[in-house]
Amino acid sequence: MAQITEDSRTESKTRSKVFIGRIVHSKSLKHLEILPKAALGVAKDGTISFLDSSITSAEEARAKYSPSGFADADYITLTPLQFLFPGLIDTHLHAPQWPNLAIGMEGNLREWCENYTDPIEASYSDTAKARRVYSDVVQTTLRLGSTTVAYNSTIHAEATNALADMCLKYGQRAVIGKLCILVGSTRGNWEESSEQSLADSEKSINYMRQIDPEARLLHPCVQPRGGSYCPPELMGGLGDLSHKYNEDDKHALRVQAHMCETTSDRDRALGLHKKFKSYAEMYHGYGMLHSRSILAHCIHLSEMDMKLLKETKAGVAHNPNSNTCLRDGECRVRELLDWGVKIGLGTDCSAGYMPSITDAMRSASNVSRYLAMKTGEEKWILGFEECVYLATMGGAEVVGLEDKIGNFEKGKEFDALLVDVDRVISVSEWDGEGEEGGLVLVKKWVFLGDDRHIKGVWVGGERVAG
Ligand SMILES: [Zn+2]
Repeated sequence: MAQITEDSRTESKTRSKVFIGRIVHSKSLKHLEILPKAALGVAKDGTISFLDSSITSAEEARAKYSPSGFADADYITLTPLQFLFPGLIDTHLHAPQWPNLAIGMEGNLREWCENYTDPIEASYSDTAKARRVYSDVVQTTLRLGSTTVAYNSTIHAEATNALADMCLKYGQRAVIGKLCILVGSTRGNWEESSEQSLADSEKSINYMRQIDPEARLLHPCVQPRGGSYCPPELMGGLGDLSHKYNEDDKHALRVQAHMCETTSDRDRALGLHKKFKSYAEMYHGYGMLHSRSILAHCIHLSEMDMKLLKETKAGVAHNPNSNTCLRDGECRVRELLDWGVKIGLGTDCSAGYMPSITDAMRSASNVSRYLAMKTGEEKWILGFEECVYLATMGGAEVVGLEDKIGNFEKGKEFDALLVDVDRVISVSEWDGEGEEGGLVLVKKWVFLGDDRHIKGVWVGGERVAG
């Protein structure tokens, strides 16, 4: 496969495209639509013009859509073992921890932070290192199918800006903020003052607004590491900052933070913010809980926490691989869904060892089954359709882009994967016929496949990998 360059990306965007073949996407939590044969048209501006299940061949598509701007389009017919799938959305990944993938599973959250996270995060005062690592992070996660990632960075504004540069350079949609830590950290991984932390946060926000003024790909955020790391005056400042650039929906700042990962982490947070009774109440009290907030983990929640998440429309990043590795506990996804809380999947690298959202789907399924075994109640088990929803539409809701990405509705941006299950283990006895056959192929890819089976990745109509 040819190398994706900036020129080839631009060319892929300036040509309209029509894909003819199997199209898979979530219509709702329980409804995974599998169209065995359909046509999906992508306009020159990268948005989806039509999804037409009455079309079964390129000739039919050409005859019907040539008059409406698709005369000079590329017509791409998929093979019987290929399908289009929405781009995956990773709602929680720590870019600086990338070199630590797959190591450090010996300790609990506190030990892991001290021995692994703090030393490596502190090292990003070296911006050249940041550029090197982040270039690999962005290119690899794109190849793994993550068209959108909500990134945590470090306390360094320059390194955070380097991460934004890489996302823009390689064409990945991203939520990015400078990490804020004032207390409770080790190995020099903290900032000097609230004033400096806030000033550097705003510096990164303004940098992203400058390099991507239309917020085509970059969505800056404020990013307190969590309640035990930011004292009241810093939290208050960050809450105010999260409302500062609300001139329109496109530019409104997001919030990314950790919440209720372990019981001791929760107790430390409430110890620093004594006037609040619950973790969500604390964020809410500082003006940081709203429809653009992404809260990682949310395992040990009180009823008040869940009620506030629901009322404020804040979203949850569920990180099943990470929660298993650090033995944090099991996020009660079913309960959050029953409450009507927005929820998506995250890899939480490097506490989670695998930067792939198909792995997160497998892990979410497994963790839900452990919860069922532990409680004796089957209701906790997440169905396959639900796992796909969390990885795509659910993630889009969590990062506040549900009107733009997450499935193949007309008018949305074309963020998509071309999956080819030829050579996936045990596929050879299946022909993929009809809707049921299509579902088998999708399951085979999610549970048995990897990036070798992703033949193309598009973000906003631009081919960025594969
Ligand atoms: Zn995290």
